[in-house]
Amino acid sequence: MYKAFLIKYAEIGIKGKNRYLFENALRDQIKNALKNLGDFVVTKEQGRVYIECPDGYDYEETVEALQRVFGIAQICPVVIIDTIEWKPLTKAVGDYVDARYEDKNFTFKMEAKRGDKNYPMTSPEICIEMGAYLLKRFPEMKVDVHNPSVRIMVEVRNKSYVYSEVIPGPGGMPVGTNGKALLLLSGGIDSPVAGYMISKRGVTIDAVYFHAPPYTSERAKQKVVDLARLVSKYTGPIKLHIVNFTEIQLNIYEKCPHEELTIIMRRYMMKIAEQIAEETGCLGLITGESIGQVASQTLHSLAATNEVCHLPVYRPLIAFDKQDIVNIAEKINTYETSILPFEDCCTIFVAKHPVTKPSLKVIHHSEKSLEDSIDDMVKTALDTREIIVVD
Ligand code: ATP
Ligand code: MG
Repeated sequence: MYKAFLIKYAEIGIKGKNRYLFENALRDQIKNALKNLGDFVVTKEQGRVYIECPDGYDYEETVEALQRVFGIAQICPVVIIDTIEWKPLTKAVGDYVDARYEDKNFTFKMEAKRGDKNYPMTSPEICIEMGAYLLKRFPEMKVDVHNPSVRIMVEVRNKSYVYSEVIPGPGGMPVGTNGKALLLLSGGIDSPVAGYMISKRGVTIDAVYFHAPPYTSERAKQKVVDLARLVSKYTGPIKLHIVNFTEIQLNIYEKCPHEELTIIMRRYMMKIAEQIAEETGCLGLITGESIGQVASQTLHSLAATNEVCHLPVYRPLIAFDKQDIVNIAEKINTYETSILPFEDCCTIFVAKHPVTKPSLKVIHHSEKSLEDSIDDMVKTALDTREIIVVD
């Protein structure tokens, strides 16, 4: 029945002179989301985006893909009517209503737009006449102009268009309108959600994963690649940097007090991530940290981790309860993958009693013992990193 979609956007409508940048980004993201589903034609039009669908396209699949494109507020499936002649047009709109609403016992309001101001009827006249036609054909229907349960929109241009259904989009801003940031992506529940949330504000995402072979397996790494792929359904392609962290981790394990291991390790992760970010034009780091979740996420520990960073660190989950994070993970379909039981590079070397109130003075002192070798190790880790583009 539906041959097109009308896409309405939210906040991006209010961006003044930069509006075209937002509209272009939205159009490009929609094209990217639909590229494997057929030859859709995506065009910008005053304040909205219009998608014409190829023959035989899959409606459900298309709506699902559009519901993952940030910046979309509403998705309206559109029926195209090949005439603007009044009589056949009213009949076609009636047929649409008949097919779409089995039960006609609802209130409605007609809305109309003309593309050509020379059309023999004005928009209010179209509404009145079309409304009268529908009331006559379907006596159960009732008009309610203030609080209708269905708004029936008719647009007359070189063809006619009718739509009445509104499917909610994800909201947010189109990816590509707000710079790029580097997500520290582990195999856990939190970091994929953090990446999703920041990306929803229009930020392009790259990612970095630290692994420690042979202490962490190929399957643990594959799990992170899989998570990146799931997140990329929302964010678009993600460049994933995979850094071998084994040597650094063993070195810390050997030379530093075990209860400080996690904190020192996390400081080195941040340092390395920051170097990758600077090399690749990322304007900030993103983590899945949340206050109090584990010993390394107390305010003291977060301060100790944060001390090494110069770039801003975005922590969208900082005040979220675990269950709220899980709910989002389920919604975006990363949860099932996140809970697969593969070892994480942080958990393997974890101390029985990690510090929860690390003192910076003590940490600095412990890190002194790494001085001779750590810079070379960091350089090697950066130089030998593997890069996978996940799409
Ligand atoms: P997650 O569910 O995201 O793994 P977590 O509760 O396990 O979080 P931590 O292990 O303390 O928390 O990690 C905190 C954050 O540090 C993660 O959300 C992630 O952003 C980053 N991080 C931790 N381990 C790694 C890793 N191996 N590679 C990349 N980033 C990591
Ligand atoms: Mg983790």
